[in-house]
Amino acid sequence: RLPRRRHGRAGAAGAAPPAAAARMAAESRAYVALGANLGDVKGNLRRTIEALNAAPGCRVTAVSPWYRSRAIGPGEQRDYLNGVVAVATTLTPHALLDLLQALEAAAGRERAVRWGARTLDLDLLLFDTLALADERLTLPHPRLAERNFVVYPLSDLAPRLRLPDGTAVADLRAALGARGLEAVHATLEECDD
Ligand code: ATP
Ligand code: CA
Ligand code: CA
Repeated sequence: RLPRRRHGRAGAAGAAPPAAAARMAAESRAYVALGANLGDVKGNLRRTIEALNAAPGCRVTAVSPWYRSRAIGPGEQRDYLNGVVAVATTLTPHALLDLLQALEAAAGRERAVRWGARTLDLDLLLFDTLALADERLTLPHPRLAERNFVVYPLSDLAPRLRLPDGTAVADLRAALGARGLEAVHATLEECDD
């Protein structure tokens, strides 16, 4: 916690010079969904969390339990392993998306069939209370509220969280139910391969 300024207000005589102010740029809180059902699933997820935590301007502050979920999408696919991490970041939302896409590429993700099997999928669920939509990024993630494999780990991490429109994540969880969620494990290590 920062010490309270006793005298004067920000912008008054005692205010920090611009360089220091830039270094103190406020951290944002983001939630990132991780999913994988191809290749070295646990290894890719573990390495991704380590890489996110090591990336400049990015810190992983919490990791959810992990859910085994039935694959949606075309063809026969293995079950997914899904989780959510909380991130404290000084990156912009688009810079964080760049980082997530670089990590997907590093895990060998190939964009072939939509919703097809993948070595790693990283979705930016929430970024502070931002709501936005452009050609690269929609926040909150547009399908967050309809996916229990995202809502469950998110509400495990942040039971009192609300979406920017005020919807309580706990209410989404209750409405969705656990259909298709096969198992939950406290840590990646405890998940079956
Ligand atoms: P879904 O979006 O339904 O979860 P998907 O994860 O398989 O499907 P991708 O192929 O990974 O879809 O992503 C398609 C595009 O979605 C990306 O190129 C990215 O620019 C865009 N996108 C928009 N909003 C987001 C977001 N919040 N998080 C991640 N990608 C996003
Ligand atoms: Ca996705
Ligand atoms: Ca994605």
